[in-house]
Amino acid sequence: MVPMWTARGTGPVAPTVATPLRPVDHAAVRLSTTGWHGSWQERNRSATIPHVLDHLENGEAWTNLARLSGRSAAPFRGMVFTDSDVYKALEAVAWSCADQSDVAELSRAQALVELVAAAREDDGYVNSAVQARSDRGRWSDAQWGHELYCAGHLFQAAVAAARCGVLAELVTVGTDFADTAARELSGANEYLDGHPQVEMALVELYRVTGEQRYLELARRQLDLRGYGRLGPDRFGSQYFLDHVPPREAREATGHAVRQLYLLCGMVDVAVETGDAALLAAADRVWTDLFATKTYVTGAHGSRHRDEAIGDPYELPPDRAYAETCAAIASFQLNWRLLLATGERRFADEMEVALFNAIAVATSDTGTRFFYSNPLQVRSGHDGSNEDAPSGRLEWFTCACCPPNLARLVASLHDYLITTSATGAQIHHPFDGTAQLDLAGMPVTLELSTTYPAGGITRAAVSTGVTRDWELAVRVPAWCAATRVRVDGELLEVTPSEGYLRIVRSWHGTHELEIEFEMPVRCISAHHRVDAVRGCVALARGPVVYALEQTDVGEADIESPDIEDLELLSVGPPSADLHLPVTLAGPVRSARLYATEERAASDGTEIHASLVPYYSWGNRGPAAMRVWLPTAGSRHADHGRTP
Ligand SMILES: [Zn+2]
Repeated sequence: MVPMWTARGTGPVAPTVATPLRPVDHAAVRLSTTGWHGSWQERNRSATIPHVLDHLENGEAWTNLARLSGRSAAPFRGMVFTDSDVYKALEAVAWSCADQSDVAELSRAQALVELVAAAREDDGYVNSAVQARSDRGRWSDAQWGHELYCAGHLFQAAVAAARCGVLAELVTVGTDFADTAARELSGANEYLDGHPQVEMALVELYRVTGEQRYLELARRQLDLRGYGRLGPDRFGSQYFLDHVPPREAREATGHAVRQLYLLCGMVDVAVETGDAALLAAADRVWTDLFATKTYVTGAHGSRHRDEAIGDPYELPPDRAYAETCAAIASFQLNWRLLLATGERRFADEMEVALFNAIAVATSDTGTRFFYSNPLQVRSGHDGSNEDAPSGRLEWFTCACCPPNLARLVASLHDYLITTSATGAQIHHPFDGTAQLDLAGMPVTLELSTTYPAGGITRAAVSTGVTRDWELAVRVPAWCAATRVRVDGELLEVTPSEGYLRIVRSWHGTHELEIEFEMPVRCISAHHRVDAVRGCVALARGPVVYALEQTDVGEADIESPDIEDLELLSVGPPSADLHLPVTLAGPVRSARLYATEERAASDGTEIHASLVPYYSWGNRGPAAMRVWLPTAGSRHADHGRTP
């Protein structure tokens, strides 16, 4: 292993080969706590990470590891992958404490690292579920054991520790285990983990250490997959993504998180090995996923039974499983594809997922979470089952999502901006600063924006070097009109491949102002999404809206009836993004099925305030719906993306 300090710098994804776009250093971007991204990251640091650590330290995740060093007498309990939740939390602390500022969190994390280190076997292998069983050895339960899945999360935590220069022992724990796995899972041992995840983790550990063995093990997992080794078991080979070799895959299918993590690993291996066919396969599956199997919120996976993506257009709003981890994995996948191709479509999908499917999963306190993220919760919903609760919960029996959120948000600033051979790219407007190095030329960007409440972003661009370079700003797919000013002067700039590109020397300090027009948009779904036929969803900018029972008084949100969209009143959004609307009142049969003609509106108006979907449920359980029924079919626009 190379000394950890040589690896310091970058964020979660750092290709070692030239890619069209390059990530910036983890310390290069600082978010202002007054902005949308920065306030969430601050809430994550001050509330979510401590909350996650509390649950891990006081629950089975701790005792499962502690029993291996004699610190606990409790038997193994819970999911076989409880170790992975500890690793995700450690990764969150590493990204969050890169500046060493939070001594308390670092010391809590250090205690967990010591716990993991003490649980290891002599050769560095660690998995509390496997070590708890005397009847089964290592690598003996490929279908359900999650052994490499857990290892992958350990490797990603080690990568974060190495790049942030914290938790040094975690780097050793990770690489020791990786060395053992690379040695044992070679030759005749064709163990294939049922839950893809380790592929991207091994590639990143290779990127940190230069150890070719890690990259080879990642590629080997891809090469072994697709031949039915894992068997159909309960849900079929698709569930494990073992039904077709990844290079031949054409459709997004199976368990949503497994599919998306697999795609991340495919992109990483493809980039590092120059495997164009593998990258093309990932793009093919991406196209299928985003054309027919993605919710308007950017979520994936409609089926509860096997946490699966589902058929094309099978996107019921009330039965949406839409697991938080799938949305996070989608965000991670789109970032990888953005770096690998430079294409805007991937940044667009990151934005939809972030502002909707991911943001909705955390409460405004930072301590309550959704695992499944439906687009409709009915009046009288039975929320007693934790896979479809009426509101956010503080923890879960299967606790994968909260620590996944913690690690993503701790590194959120790593996903906003890139550099390239031609200059710098702002993919996502944010409030904060960026210190960039453009081929040896230092550049400072000070960004201020009210995004997503408003469409204006200002950037003070400072550099002492006189050299022409391009500052590119993504124009979201939903945005039809833009205005660009530099030092107050209006410029005629036509977007090129989805980006406003301003080439000049930028010597000194100049103010760039970009304005996105941000009207309220009425979105309808493809006619094959039967569950929302005749419905519209409202969006403004990247934010999809929802109607909560709390905001309609005595009326019933189960039956709003927008008789004529032209007459629909939509007011300007308030500072907290609430959107006042007027809906026409309905007259409907109370019977489950009726043959009479549907009656016209009685003229009653419902005055309501739509809330950003990501903020619903923060005022207690209440019925909610994203899709609002309308009187007629309006499917002129089949676009899914808001
Ligand atoms: Zn999850």
